[in-house]
Amino acid sequence: MDNSGINLLGMTRSQLETLFSDMGEKPFRARQVLKWVHARGVNDIDQMTDLSKALRQRLRSAAVLDVPEILYDKTAKDGTRKWLMKMAGGSAVETVFIPEANRGTLCVSSQIGCALDCSFCSTGKQGFNRDLSAAEIISQVWVAAKALEGTEERRERRITNVVFMGMGEPLLNYDAVMAAINLMLEDNAYGLSKRRVTLSTSGVVPAIRQMAEDTDCSLALSLHAPNDALRDEIVPLNKKYGIAETLAACNDYLSRLADKRRLTVEYTLINGVNDHADHARELADLLRQTPCKINLIPFNPFPNSGYERPSNNRCHHFRDLLLAAGYNVTIRKTRGDDIDAACGQLVGQVQDKTRRSERFIKAVQIGSTAAEIASARTGRL
Ligand code: SAH
Ligand code: SF4
Repeated sequence: MDNSGINLLGMTRSQLETLFSDMGEKPFRARQVLKWVHARGVNDIDQMTDLSKALRQRLRSAAVLDVPEILYDKTAKDGTRKWLMKMAGGSAVETVFIPEANRGTLCVSSQIGCALDCSFCSTGKQGFNRDLSAAEIISQVWVAAKALEGTEERRERRITNVVFMGMGEPLLNYDAVMAAINLMLEDNAYGLSKRRVTLSTSGVVPAIRQMAEDTDCSLALSLHAPNDALRDEIVPLNKKYGIAETLAACNDYLSRLADKRRLTVEYTLINGVNDHADHARELADLLRQTPCKINLIPFNPFPNSGYERPSNNRCHHFRDLLLAAGYNVTIRKTRGDDIDAACGQLVGQVQDKTRRSERFIKAVQIGSTAAEIASARTGRL
């Protein structure tokens, strides 16, 4: 994807309305363009036939419609499908579609790499390369929707849900992620239900608090430990924003939504690290005041991680203790095994790995402000 010029693909309805009003055109043009680009999947301004030839010409001089090149498209035995898309600057990201009986979930990336360096995550181990633009994030939905459109009209073939569980920490690429979510929910674009678009975060507290002003999508918290001492070790961001403060921010966000929604708590089970019976009991106590559903993810191994996936028995025992404590708990099934499409296995191609992630972690450890953390990420600390 080439980022020269404004890319229509990543523009929200209000941004398009401004673009058209600057051109002396009526705002309803924005809806027409959204429908062409996202609902109908065109990739050429000239195909927008309800815009006059003259207007298309003016639009072409003001903006581009740039979609990513697909480097591969693989389907696993269980129907899970994965695309590798080429982004500007030689990097690439993976996007996964997971069909189930009554829904189809697309897992998207928000950054190339990740600066947060959680100890069990292969994305984190690759370091941070750069943020994706709004166009690059929504282009993952665009490509998948277009690719799935041609398949048989079966319910499970459509995208009904989107989760930000691919590469990157979405709340450290805030504006682009909010614009992409806006397009996912926009009726003239993808029209997804706000309940079915889920942002997953490791807990960037100021950004969780800001979300209440900007969106009403669903929220998942990557908790992974029932106490600060253990979470400090496996999710380094915890040294900056501890568990109590993070859960309070999640609860506040959810309580401000117009409908009743529960927090999804993600907990990667790592053998001998956070999967003891005592951890389950401590977790049950910790979440007592948080309306939530708990999603256990058996650790997905990658080379040199130093960690192992617990046995099925251990996972079931952990789950049963939480069930007995009254929680709604599921164990996430591993999908797309044969094409490396499981959680934490989306790698893409992270180029130009710099020392930035180390500087970032240092900034977190010394208790820097969010602005300092942001500048560490962009290399300006
Ligand atoms: N940065 C965000 C979203 C991307 S990670 C976050 O951390 O929430 C999406 C989910 O996959 C997170 O819950 C993460 O902890 C989990 N994950 C990462 N690596 C994993 C691995 N190797 N095995 C299992 N789950 C993993
Ligand atoms: Fe980043 Fe999420 Fe991986 Fe942690 S788990 S390193 S926040 S992508």
